[in-house]
Amino acid sequence: MTAVELRDVSKSFAETRAVDRLDLTVAEGEFLILVGPSGCGKTTALRMIAGLEEVTSGEIRIDGRVVNELPPARRDIAMVFQNYALYPNMTVADNIGFPLRRQRVRGAELRGRVAEVARILDIEPLLGRKPSQLSGGQRQRVAIGRALVRRPKAFLMDEPLSNLDAKLRVQMRAELLTLHRRLGITTVYVTHDQTEAMTLGDRVLVLAGGRAQQLDSPQRLYRSPANTFVATFIGSPSMNLLQGCVRGGELAVGPAWLGPVDAPDGDVTVGVRPEDFVVADGGPLDAHVEFVEDLGPETLVHFRASGIDRIVDGEGAAKLLVARLSSGRPPRAGEQRRFWADPRKVTLFDPATGLAIEQPR
Ligand code: ATP
Repeated sequence: MTAVELRDVSKSFAETRAVDRLDLTVAEGEFLILVGPSGCGKTTALRMIAGLEEVTSGEIRIDGRVVNELPPARRDIAMVFQNYALYPNMTVADNIGFPLRRQRVRGAELRGRVAEVARILDIEPLLGRKPSQLSGGQRQRVAIGRALVRRPKAFLMDEPLSNLDAKLRVQMRAELLTLHRRLGITTVYVTHDQTEAMTLGDRVLVLAGGRAQQLDSPQRLYRSPANTFVATFIGSPSMNLLQGCVRGGELAVGPAWLGPVDAPDGDVTVGVRPEDFVVADGGPLDAHVEFVEDLGPETLVHFRASGIDRIVDGEGAAKLLVARLSSGRPPRAGEQRRFWADPRKVTLFDPATGLAIEQPR
């Protein structure tokens, strides 16, 4: 069943088109991520679902009912923000119970529901403390508890982990996943962090300039990006985009012929994931290794390939190609080596539109 649905939803602030004709359906129990660069409209989209922002045009449904005119309190959803906004003078128990008290829930039922949430989140020993006596992760758990206690139809989360340090973020990510598996509450989650998007989401919607770019599973976003924006936004280091062409069924980047490819003749943009480059004696790419990053289990090799242009907006180091090598003896900085990329693993894009060219896999 569909829990949340956006039909042709747009939002303008004066001249700014923050969200542009967005269609989206979130299935019941799904964990859906909205991801994109700063200013792409993800918070605005979430706030419209919550009822904190009016839509300029289009329709929003929750549980099949049009909610465009309903105030936030009547939409039966709960929001968790980046800044947890706990009440500093209240105990953890009172913070969690606050939404229930507003609904006039009192006495044993109130205490029982707060205790249940505290047990789920493993914060029972903290119920008597004030927010100032908690760590960042514990505070975030209390904020989630306060949302959970209402038993909402859906959770809306806006960068809820971005105030935490890197280690705690990883831990809280795992906790959110476990919680979602146990409770199955429909969740729409906003982040600009593609790792978070890829690890948490059942499906991920990539937004740019207020427009949907691709809505897909994390694996498909990574392996079959719909356009060059998604190709370079998802994955770190980014996919290498190179100017190339297909002639007589053979794929070339610059002067280097990579091999046969199932695509019509013409100019193409060739997308190569860093892990799809291999060092190959006698390979077609003549490369000068500029610098190497040893990350332990893998090595990032940044190289310049003669006659090959990388398509990037930036300058300097971004002009270099990057390979991710996980075994063998990686090349060293300053060496001249040969590389190859298997044409069956690359993604081809139309250089005029940036859209992926369908290839049989
Ligand atoms: P970030 O990751 O930086 O929070 P975002 O993807 O969540 O970005 P939004 O906050 O949704 O982006 O903003 C989308 C666009 O709408 C931006 O250009 C922003 O400046 C504009 N915008 C958002 N809120 C308002 C507002 N209240 N008034 C005017 N413009 C706004």
